Amino acid sequence: MDPEDPEDRDEGIDDDERELLRQDLDDVEALKHLLGPRGLKGVIFYCPDCEEDHYLTWDLLRGNLNQLLEEGDSPVHEPAFDPDPDEYVTWDYARGFLDGYETLQDEESEEVAKRLSRELAGRGWTRGDISGLLGSVHLRPSDEGPPPEND
Ligand SMILES: [Zn+2]
Repeated sequence: MDPEDPEDRDEGIDDDERELLRQDLDDVEALKHLLGPRGLKGVIFYCPDCEEDHYLTWDLLRGNLNQLLEEGDSPVHEPAFDPDPDEYVTWDYARGFLDGYETLQDEESEEVAKRLSRELAGRGWTRGDISGLLGSVHLRPSDEGPPPEND
């Protein structure tokens, strides 16, 4: 990044922060769908300015992140809407949950890829065909797939 470039300077946040915010936005979206149905409404943040906890619903959090992305500033001090502390988790907890969930998904899709590879090989599919199919549904071909074609 060139500090003399006015395009780089006029934003309150740089590209790295922007990327992190986008990642956070994706996470919030995922968390809303994963934790919302479990009765968890959002995240609790300790705010050093107000010296108290702020409760942010997933939607509020998403709105804040969006505003941060667009304007470089965020209205985090919105009054809590009669929150029930039991329905809010810390951001660390939420992120930890998401990490664990994504790892689980990876492991599951690996297992699915493995089983699918074996199944299709049993039906006479070539290794290339199987890799193509798995790739088209965003599964990684299994390392221990069918034996290589011999003709
Ligand atoms: Zn505050």
